[in-house]
Order: sequence, then structure tokens, then C-alpha cells
Amino acid sequence: MNCPNCNQKTNIEKTANQYFLGENSQGIPFFKCEECGNLFYVKEETAYTISRGEKGYRFVPITYGVLEFLVAGTIFYFFGSNIITWIVGGIFLWLGWSSIKIGIWGSQKLIDEMTLDSGVGSSKDATEEWRKINKLE
Ligand SMILES: [Zn+2]
Repeated sequence: MNCPNCNQKTNIEKTANQYFLGENSQGIPFFKCEECGNLFYVKEETAYTISRGEKGYRFVPITYGVLEFLVAGTIFYFFGSNIITWIVGGIFLWLGWSSIKIGIWGSQKLIDEMTLDSGVGSSKDATEEWRKINKLE
């Protein structure tokens, strides 16, 4: 089945598929495109795009970022400076800064996928943007 938004072939298995969202009461299955993150349902062999009912909020990743900074601060405060606290605290500092950057500069699409799609895989588009923001490529 091809995504109605980007036309890439996308998996519409209902088992072992992290892009399967579930079915409605009429048994119509809902999926997320692995490529572009578009949401769609399949009815009589045709895929139809649906829009997200809500928008992701930028303060959500920013709040996570602040919490991660607090965790890092707490680790340094209570466990002093040694190699372990630098590694663990450093990871939290990195995660915090990453979340804040996403909250400020991330696209609405990335924010939507990160805040609304819990339990569902990220699309390739969102993963690429995430890597760019974190300068991992
Ligand atoms: Zn798509």
C-alpha cells in the first residue's frame, strides 16, 4: 500500500508493525507512514489521509529539557564530580539541550510526532530532522 501523501510504499501489516495505530469500531485500520509521518486509514484497498486531531505543543519538549537539566544538576550536586557522574550527568545535559533545541527550532511536524505519537515509530523525515538538530550527521 502506498502512502496517499508521499506515495512511498508503506507497511500495512497489523502485527509486528510499530506504524500500525489500531482500528476503529468498524474495523478500519489506521497507520502512520514510515517515510513522511502522514496518518492514514485503509478502506476497500484505498488509503485515505487523515489530519491529526490536535497539535503538539512546543512547551512539552522544552519542559522535558528543563527537567533533564534538573536531573543532571541533582546528580552533580549529590554525587560530586567523578567519572561516573560526568558520564551520567553529561547524558542528561545532552538530552536536555537536545529537547530544548527541538522545542525552539523543531518543525511542527517533528513536535507533533514527538509529543503525540507515543508508542508509534518515528517517520524517516522526523528522524532525519532530529539528527540534524542534534548535529549527528
Ligand atoms: Zn508518506
